[in-house]
Amino acid sequence: MKIIPDDVKITPWLEQYKKFKSDYPDAILLFRMGDFYEMFFDDARKAASILDIALTARDSEKKIPMAGIPHHALNLYLGRLIKAGCRAAICEQIGDVQASKIVDRKIVRVVTPGTYVPEENSDNSGHLAAVLPLKNLKNQISIALLSVDTGRLEAGTVSFREANSLLSAFYPGEVLYPSNFDVKKLPDFLNNFELRETQSELFKTQIAAGRLKNALNTKKLEGFGINENDSCVGAAWAALDYLSATQFSSLNNVLKISPLNSLDKMSLDYSTQKNLEIIPEVSGDSVSLFTSIDRCRTPMGRRTLRNWLLRPLIEVKAIQKRQNAIKILFEERSKTSELADLLAGTRDIERALSRLALGTGNPSDLGAIRDTLRIIPNIKSLIFSGSIGEILKSLPDLNDLNEFLEKSLQDSLPKNLGNGDLIRTGFNAELDSWREISTKGELWLEEYLERERKASATPKLKAGYTRAFGYYLEIGKNGLTVTPENFKQRQTLVNTTRYTTPELQEFQEKMENSESKISELEKILYQEIINRIIQDSNHIQLTGKLLGILDCVCSGAFIARERNYACPEIDNSDVIEIKGGRHPVIESELKDSVFVPNDVTLEKNSRVIILTGPNMAGKSTWLRMTALIAIMAQAGLWVPAEHAKIGIVDRVFTRIGARDDLVRGNSTFMIEMLETANILNNVTDKSLIILDEVGRGTATWDGMSIAWSVLEYLQANSKARVLFATHYHELTCLEEKLDGVKNYSMAVSESQEGILFLHQVVKGSADRSYGIEVARLAGLPNIVLKRAFELLETFEKNGFEKIPLSEPLPQIALKRQISMFSPEADGIIEEISNLDIDNLTPMQAMKILHKFKLKSQHVLQ
Ligand code: ADP
Repeated sequence: MKIIPDDVKITPWLEQYKKFKSDYPDAILLFRMGDFYEMFFDDARKAASILDIALTARDSEKKIPMAGIPHHALNLYLGRLIKAGCRAAICEQIGDVQASKIVDRKIVRVVTPGTYVPEENSDNSGHLAAVLPLKNLKNQISIALLSVDTGRLEAGTVSFREANSLLSAFYPGEVLYPSNFDVKKLPDFLNNFELRETQSELFKTQIAAGRLKNALNTKKLEGFGINENDSCVGAAWAALDYLSATQFSSLNNVLKISPLNSLDKMSLDYSTQKNLEIIPEVSGDSVSLFTSIDRCRTPMGRRTLRNWLLRPLIEVKAIQKRQNAIKILFEERSKTSELADLLAGTRDIERALSRLALGTGNPSDLGAIRDTLRIIPNIKSLIFSGSIGEILKSLPDLNDLNEFLEKSLQDSLPKNLGNGDLIRTGFNAELDSWREISTKGELWLEEYLERERKASATPKLKAGYTRAFGYYLEIGKNGLTVTPENFKQRQTLVNTTRYTTPELQEFQEKMENSESKISELEKILYQEIINRIIQDSNHIQLTGKLLGILDCVCSGAFIARERNYACPEIDNSDVIEIKGGRHPVIESELKDSVFVPNDVTLEKNSRVIILTGPNMAGKSTWLRMTALIAIMAQAGLWVPAEHAKIGIVDRVFTRIGARDDLVRGNSTFMIEMLETANILNNVTDKSLIILDEVGRGTATWDGMSIAWSVLEYLQANSKARVLFATHYHELTCLEEKLDGVKNYSMAVSESQEGILFLHQVVKGSADRSYGIEVARLAGLPNIVLKRAFELLETFEKNGFEKIPLSEPLPQIALKRQISMFSPEADGIIEEISNLDIDNLTPMQAMKILHKFKLKSQHVLQ
């Protein structure tokens, strides 16, 4: 598409615009014009709708659509553009603005979803990944994860399955892949992310290794545990290069590279994270495990908690270390409150450091580091035993930097640079002397005004300043009988006239000179302070990490006390034993009722549990509770139970519920089977598998046969622990046939009024499915329920033969009932209930609506 339509006359600034836009065609170009960033043509239309700002035009003929944002509000609007999935190229004015000449401009940075690190605490921003599928090794992929917000870089070559789990836990804003790869041939799981093609040369191992060593200032990568011939080096360099190319900055806060090892973590793939609603971004809901148990006081703590939940540990000792840390804080109640209060005063130093190092920071980031370093000595002086004491001791000593920042920065820091109010008096002699000139100038102005008042005999004479006209003397209309000779009229307003004088002009030059000197010096000193901070990057990053751990442990201890959680026993057995377990999220969300605790016993003789019971009785809740308790336990947290013993789980797999993925052309049943295939192909002896209905998306006999053989396969080919909720009662006979399979069901109490769910899991299978009773609870018309009972009785007695004819129903009611149970209508209802409205574009929504309309016409025919 043309950047500038043919009928628009190209002026010099448009020529400039065209060049920049052609360099960054897929980014919204924010073109600085005076105090505004302006956007034009399609960018303007798009931005006006995303940002909800006015769409105007640059020209009277309205051929150049335009939308603008004030320069001081850039960050606010950038955040919204990035959230909407856009990239933005920022084009600044450089050099002097002179009326006669078009001002020079330059792109200073490109803001992208994977590299944007906003000032506010948005927890998963600034995550960039790069992937390189290996042509000669099937199902292997090199990946690099670059946390732009903390400067952490990890890389490794792993299986597709591990990559899925690692990327899902990392949740990158963008995933780079080499341009010589056909995007359609990339592994499927990458479709969950925003993919971006990048030059394939960057991924070449040898060249990349040289550049990476240069960037990290090292002779060998082996020192970091990375093999220089591993193709992950290419992915790592591609990520770093993209960062420096978009930020136009050196990479001085990425100090090392760490091997990406997923083998020491529990693996949770994307659909498991989604099904178990671990973090809000993936669950697509504001309710998630993370949001429910987060009591962190800092963004650093929240990042740690997310990481713990998404990458739980599998080593007993490492888990116990975290548990013990929580125990210490759990027991030391008052000291823990003191620690939490101190933590609440710290700020996000990891993010502030990254922003300063990338050149996108502002004075508030300096403040974040200073304010936090001020508090560190108080945190260090707290006395705790065990691992908490060790963490406190290992907080780096940053007193020198702290002192430097106290000396150099004003107490209250400005929002933006350039007004001369950043640096403390006494820090720089030259700055002080210019400031003095400026202060003296103000005194001089007062004296001068007094002199002129007397000389002109006009006591009402006033002095003032505007940016456009500079200093002036002002008097109301008719205020001067005779205009003094040295007064030169500058401006006439409705009620006043403004004058200048030669002395005032001379004063103005001096003042302007001193102001520009102050602002210039301030910029230099600002950069010096940043350079000084960057010298301590290593220690600042470590401090941020340790504060994050302390905060996360504090949060764990608070929630354990508040919700009466227990410290689980962890070992390498094949057991999961939970007494009085509760679902951590549902328990805290229930308002009018109390959560009914349940037990779980998975061990050698009972490692496959078949759970039957009516809909809404609590089967899914029990299944998910078990998985969430295992995840929390291995994250090192305490769990919602009276007691729990967890034998290490290395992978959690889930197959839950029905959802269509129409965008990618997958039906509910197809997704169900894809997820099941993934489980069967990757199951390990230490896996925990949650199957909430298998085979429901197809005909009964088909579905039941698939479910049956899946269970047989899991029982025979692995020692995995399996929880299987099903409607197929026939499957409960497997308890008799297969070792280690046990039946459980949801207790139901029946009375004259109907059924009541007790939400209790009991041994044995359910005797019936109570489907019709549940339908009654849902408000199905009595006439339909009566008929359903009649049919059920006949089916049970005589099979499908001899079905009695129904009493004639009133026509309208009949039509409504029939259409309600017709497969098409059923399908529509299921599809509607499975719609993920938040993630639909208006166009997709229109298409779906259209499809429903066609289907509904069919049903009504
Ligand atoms: P099912 O999978 O059997 O259809 P769910 O697990 O979805 O049933 O549970 C339905 C609802 O019942 C839940 O949303 C929850 O509100 C409630 N519920 C489930 N288990 C319990 C429990 N143990 N205590 C209290 N309420 C529960």
